[in-house]
Amino acid sequence: MTDSRGAKVADARGAAGTREPPGRIYDPNCTRCPRLASYLAEYRARHPDCWGRPVASFGDEAPRIVLVGLAPGLNGANRTGRPFTGDYAGILLYETLFRLGLSTRRVSVSADDPLRLRGLRIVNSVKCAPPGNKPLPEEVRRCNAYLRAELARLLPSARVLVALGRIGHDAALLALGLKRSAFPFSHGAEHRLDALSTPDATLYLLDSYHCSRYNTQTRRLTEQMFHAVLARACELAELRRRRRA
Ligand code: SF4
Repeated sequence: MTDSRGAKVADARGAAGTREPPGRIYDPNCTRCPRLASYLAEYRARHPDCWGRPVASFGDEAPRIVLVGLAPGLNGANRTGRPFTGDYAGILLYETLFRLGLSTRRVSVSADDPLRLRGLRIVNSVKCAPPGNKPLPEEVRRCNAYLRAELARLLPSARVLVALGRIGHDAALLALGLKRSAFPFSHGAEHRLDALSTPDATLYLLDSYHCSRYNTQTRRLTEQMFHAVLARACELAELRRRRRA
């Protein structure tokens, strides 16, 4: 199989498409990564009232846009149990989603608040919070089985994947069975994934720098830059944008 750029694609539909029955997309008790499992066990011992386990994806069950993040933040998703909830990275993310009409609330407070996502789902490359926010390559590979299973379920509705950072970009390509060399990461890049598209619907992968505290405070990623990527995702997904101030 060959994509529009002439790159060979390793039977991508077999990886995340229709040929394999989807596996499990989430296990709250998964301990397949020993380093992360012991890190979270220590965390739960110190913070028995917090989540401290693998964090499930969040959002629309049949989304047009799939946001592929890195991993739960220790004091955010890992603490509250919902992606980008309770830490700095979530501030810009949910504010931007709200302004584009993709979120019902501007601020994500806790896993049981009434906020809902419309037309968008947040998935992570790694479901357990890693020390220093840096998963090891083998942890990304191990957790990719969940991402692959979930993308297989989401591909029928999805039109755009938005990768937050290089790890999210690479994890999405691995899950889809696509070659990294054919789709280089750069902020604002727009990749057509022809091998996974249909005559009626083109699938795209858009890249953004991650909305982490470091990236936003150093202005590597500004509000305008982030908004532009997600607005473009809405456009490609043919989601009617509800502009909010
Ligand atoms: S990172 Fe993924 S594969 Fe590893 S222990 Fe957590 S849920 Fe399991």
